[in-house]
Amino acid sequence: MTNTRSVLVTGASTGIGHAIATDLAMAGIRVFGSVRSQQDADALVAATPTGAPTIIPVLLDVQDTASVRAAADTIEQQLGTDGLWGLVNNAGISVASPLEYIPEDAFQLQMDVNLTGVLRCVQAFLPLLKRTSGRVVNISSISGRVAFPMIGAYATSKYALEGLSDALRLELGVHGMEVSVVQPGSIATPIWERSRARATELLTQVPEHGITEYRQMIDQAVGTTENHGEEAGDPQLVANVVRHALTAKRPRTRYQVGKDAKILLFLRRWLLSDRRLDKLIRRNLGLH
Ligand code: NAP
Repeated sequence: MTNTRSVLVTGASTGIGHAIATDLAMAGIRVFGSVRSQQDADALVAATPTGAPTIIPVLLDVQDTASVRAAADTIEQQLGTDGLWGLVNNAGISVASPLEYIPEDAFQLQMDVNLTGVLRCVQAFLPLLKRTSGRVVNISSISGRVAFPMIGAYATSKYALEGLSDALRLELGVHGMEVSVVQPGSIATPIWERSRARATELLTQVPEHGITEYRQMIDQAVGTTENHGEEAGDPQLVANVVRHALTAKRPRTRYQVGKDAKILLFLRRWLLSDRRLDKLIRRNLGLH
C-alpha cells in the first residue's frame, strides 16, 4: 500500500462537495470527485488547486445502482491493490412542498437521492474501504435533527440518514472503521436556487385551496431560499470538519457546522421539548 490516501466525494460538481474535493486535494489527498456530466468532469479537473494532486472525476449517479457499481470498478482499477481511505456521501437535493400535497414520486425522489443513494454508495465502496479500515462521512443537515415546515421530505431523508449512520457506525466498528455525520446549518450553495426551482414546479401541482391553506409557510420558505445569502456560511466551513473527520486520530461522530446549527441543535438536545421547539420555530419563521 502506498502512503497516498484516496477519498471519494460524491456530488463534487458544485457547492459543498466541490469545496470538500478541492480542500482535500490541497491537503495532498488523492480525491475522486463524482460528477454527472463530462462538462462537470472537465471543470473539476480544472478546479484542482495549484500544486495539489489532480482531482479525478468519476461519473456516478447515486440513483442508479449500475452507475455506482461501475464507478467502484473504475476506482478499483485506479487504486490497484490499494484501498479507499474515505467515502464522503455528500450528493443531495432538497424537494420542498407541503407534505399534504407532495406528489409521491417527488417524495420518493427525495428519499432515493438523499438516503438510498447513500446506501448504494456504502454497499459499492465498502470492499475498497475495508482494505484500509477507512472512514465514511455522511453529509446530513441541521434538518437531520430539527424539521422545518415545507421541507418535511428533506427532513425525513436527513433524519433517516442520521439513523443509517448510527447503525452503520456500530456495524463497521467490527472492521475498526469510523462513521461521522456532518450537520451543516445554512450554507451558501446552488442548492437554494435548485430547491426553489423544483418547489415552483411542484407548487403547480398543489390545488388552489392547498396554496391558500399553506400560503404563509410557502411564502416564508420561498423567502428563505431567496434571502439566505447574508446568513449562509461558506462551504469551506463544511470542508474543514470533513477533513477533520477523515484525518483526525479520533474523529467525532457528529459535527455541527455554522452558528445556526450549533445553537439550534444544542437547544434541541438539551433544553427544549418538542412543543417549545415548535413555538421557537414558528416565532422565528413569523408563523401564527
Ligand atoms: P448543491 O450545490 O446543489 O450540490 C449538490 C451536489 O449533489 C451536486 O454535485 C449534484 O450534482 C449532486 N447530485 C444531486 N443529485 C445527484 C445524483 N442523483 N447523483 C449524484 N450526484 C447528485 O448543494 P449543496 O448545498 O452543496 O449540498 C450538498 C449536501 O449538503 C447535500 O447532501 C445537502 O443536503 C447538504 N446540506 C446543504 C446545506 C446548505 O445550506 N447548502 C445545509 C445542510 C446540508 P449535479 O450538479 O450533477 O446535479
